[in-house]
Formats: sequence, C-alpha cells, structure tokens
Amino acid sequence: MNFHILTLFPEMVLQGLNTSIIGRACEKGLLSINAVNIRDFTTDKHKKVDDYTYGGGAGMLMQAQPVYDSYQHVVNNMKTRQRPRVIYVTPQGRVFNQAMAKEMAMEHDLIFLCGHYEGIDERVLEEIVTDYVSIGDYVLTGGELPAMVMIDSISRMVPGVLSNQESGETESFSGNLLEYPQYSRPEEWNGKKVPEILLSGHHKKIEEWRLEQSIQRTKERRPDLYEKYVEEQRRLEALNPKKKRKYKRNLKIQSENQVSKNQEE
Ligand code: SAM
Repeated sequence: MNFHILTLFPEMVLQGLNTSIIGRACEKGLLSINAVNIRDFTTDKHKKVDDYTYGGGAGMLMQAQPVYDSYQHVVNNMKTRQRPRVIYVTPQGRVFNQAMAKEMAMEHDLIFLCGHYEGIDERVLEEIVTDYVSIGDYVLTGGELPAMVMIDSISRMVPGVLSNQESGETESFSGNLLEYPQYSRPEEWNGKKVPEILLSGHHKKIEEWRLEQSIQRTKERRPDLYEKYVEEQRRLEALNPKKKRKYKRNLKIQSENQVSKNQEE
C-alpha cells in the first residue's frame, strides 16, 4: 500500500513513520511512504505558500495553487489511472475510528493532505478532496500528527504488517469490545498476582474469562461502545439462534459480574 503525504513538513512525517513496525513494513515493501513538500510547488518567488484570508480574520491560509500542483505531481507519478482517494485531515471531518482504518487499508494508494495555519483555501479542497477526516474534537497546529496517527493505524490493517495477524483481530474495537487485561512475567509483581485462570492452561475457560473481562471493561470505560456491542449481539440473535445462546451466555456473565461487584460495594 502506498501513502502519499502532502505537507509543509515532510521530515516530520518521515521521521515519525520510519521506525519500528511501520519502518520494517516499508523495508519489506509492504508499504511505501512518500512525503511531498507543498512548498516545492509554489510559483511565488519568495517560496510563500500562505496568505491573508478574504473578509478579514486572524491567521494565514494555505493557498490553492501549491496544494493543487503538489497533488497533480503525485497523481501524475502514480501507476494507476484511477482517481486516488484524498484525505484532508481536518477537525471538521468525520472522526476516525478502527472501522475506517480497516476500510482504508484496502486502498492501493491514499493521499493525505495536511493543513497548517488557519487551514487551506476552500476551492482546492472542493477540487481534490474525497474524504474529510478528524482525529478528535480538538484543534492541532497542523495535519502532520493526524496523518501519522491515521497512517499508523491503517498500516496495521494491511496484511503482513503485523507479524501475528491475530493481534489485529482480537484487540480493542474488534466486535465493539475493548481488549481484556493482559499480564506478562513475573507471576507476582508488587504483591499483585496474575489471575489464576491464565495459568491454568484451560484454553476454553481462558477465552470465556477474557470475553467476560472485555465486556465488563467496555461497559465501564466505554458505555457508548458497549451499547453497540449489545445491539450487534441482538441483531445476531435475531439472525441465528445459535448466536442467541452465546449472547445469553454473555449477558449471564454480565449479570453475574454485576452481582459480585454490587456485593463487593
Ligand atoms: N481553522 C481550522 C478550523 O477551525 O477548523 C483549524 C486549522 S488547524 C489550526 C491547522 C490544520 O491542522 C488543519 O488544516 C488540519 O489539517 C490540522 N488539524 C487540526 N486539528 C485537527 C484534528 N483534530 N484532526 C485532523 N486534523 C487536524
């Protein structure tokens, strides 16, 4: 999969993405990261890429021309004739999530457009952007960190990038649940013991314990996600009576947990 990043700070994204798992995936040829400096495409003799906004207001705006020309440069150098997907990272976009990461990982090429200052002239956005995506309801100084966050998360969903493919499938957000708590050696640390069930070698029981923990954790920490999980279980129950039993089992675990929790309190 090929990522193309239109930015005023290419060294920032390259440094951030060329290490660890993503860096290794690039070395293996599973991913490529092409950071393009928008400033290289300005026709302004002083290399300016921003100007005042019409109508007044604080701050400078990135101009349409260098952004458009950097985009054209990337498109002209692509092997495919298809119009690429262009993601403008912006606080005004749809909030990024794991489902979007999985879906975007199926693309062959993705272009990320990083804004700076007050953002980018609306006319070039209308011309090239296919997706407006935010990483959360707060405002950052530039689009480089959001692009890096998204690229990291999308890359993990590209087959072969994670050494153990399973780890991408059982972790948080798959099936609308957060991941269960995990432990490594030693068996006892700071007076705290690893839950006995995990040392039992009884795989089915461990799986049940983990599911129970996931459900409980999701309910406590992310009630919004938990609602989705319950809804999905109900939908599966309606489709398949076998799933119904699993759903009931989950709910049973839930209520048992609740009882023991109430008893503790
Ligand atoms: N004036 C813009 C507004 O109010 O919507 C904010 C501009 S922000 C200071 C500069 C750039 O940072 C944006 O163009 C965008 O690329 C990036 N950015 C800031 N916050 C972001 C967020 N939460 N998600 C994605 N990109 C963000």
